[in-house]
Amino acid sequence: MKENYIDNPAALKIDLMLRGLRIDDPLVRAWACGMDGVDIMLPRNTLVNIPCREEFTKGSPYVLRKKGGGYAITDGRGEVAAELVKRPAFYDRKTSTGVPFSRIATVHGSLTSIAPSSRCDFFNASVECKYCAGNLDVKGADKTIYSVEEVVETVEAVLEEGVGGLIYLSTGFSEGTDGGIVFLKPYLHAIKRKFRCLVAVETLPPRENRWIDETYALGADSVLYNLEIFDKELYEIICPGRAASIGRKRCMDALAYAARIFPNGTVASHLIVGLEPPGSTMQGIDYLTGIGAVPILPIYRPRPGKALRIDPLTTEIILPVYKHLYRAVTEKKISLTWVRDLSMVTTPAEIRALVDDAGTRPSIVESFYKSRLGRKTAWGLSSLRRKLRVKASEGGEEGE
Ligand code: SF4
Repeated sequence: MKENYIDNPAALKIDLMLRGLRIDDPLVRAWACGMDGVDIMLPRNTLVNIPCREEFTKGSPYVLRKKGGGYAITDGRGEVAAELVKRPAFYDRKTSTGVPFSRIATVHGSLTSIAPSSRCDFFNASVECKYCAGNLDVKGADKTIYSVEEVVETVEAVLEEGVGGLIYLSTGFSEGTDGGIVFLKPYLHAIKRKFRCLVAVETLPPRENRWIDETYALGADSVLYNLEIFDKELYEIICPGRAASIGRKRCMDALAYAARIFPNGTVASHLIVGLEPPGSTMQGIDYLTGIGAVPILPIYRPRPGKALRIDPLTTEIILPVYKHLYRAVTEKKISLTWVRDLSMVTTPAEIRALVDDAGTRPSIVESFYKSRLGRKTAWGLSSLRRKLRVKASEGGEEGE
């Protein structure tokens, strides 16, 4: 290993996501390492989800060790304190219909991810995205659809425990022009009616803009239409279903339209690092920030039979991409309030530490929004703004 990232939490987060973590103690391994990896808090409140099961993690220089009453991560040359994030207690409880909450919701930092159905029709047509992590059911065999009541009970359990208060509702592809918002509508409506919480919605980009208006009117606080890959040719090869059914251009147009409807910083799109050359990801960052969308950069995790990662891919190679991201969002004055404290991806806010060390302290505005009062205010402002906008649009439906 040429570089040493152990003393820089933001860079270490990227290196850990890229190379994984070895957990030698079988008991700790069984307890901490889930299918999605292990959530660990590094210094400076840097939360990271680290792969620990995949084959490639066996070659990682990083090892989790017991230290005193806690844990540390070592790379053989130095070490850093590592706090294993406690499994939420509600995971051990069930809905009134007997479904374990842990099947419906997954907490990642400040975000709780809920997919009411594990279906994606791209699998049925064998045109699924080639990187798909398979957290949705790849064979289409699982026809389970959690009811609105089951999802509402789950959100209640999440909020009661005070973890992952930003609810992230997602769905896979289904035929139709709406991208999936019609399926999510009753869930979104029920959650917004019952709780004062923030809800982000991830669907495929709808083919018509009216569905974006509808998503906003329904009360979504944030929307994600994931472009995933900026390079046109690679997009078509890696995402055959998306390319044929929706198309890269429509995804970009939908994002641009959404960025005009939703408040600054609440329209986001993934660009997966490692599936295209870094220069191409940087072009994608420029495009997205240019239209007012927040690029979120997850790192591709190769799985057996899905080793699509570009080679070589090292932290030295991809750090400039993240730095570029931070400069771009700063230059375009895109708010980062909504994209923070996420363990699965490195957010623009974390990259500040790499670009400007003085910026590692949160600004007054960020500190405010992180507070309980700030959250309420964020909710109130977005709710008011929506009401004004929805009322102004003829025939618009009030979501609350
Ligand atoms: S749209 Fe692509 S990434 Fe999303 S679930 Fe379907 S196949 Fe997987």
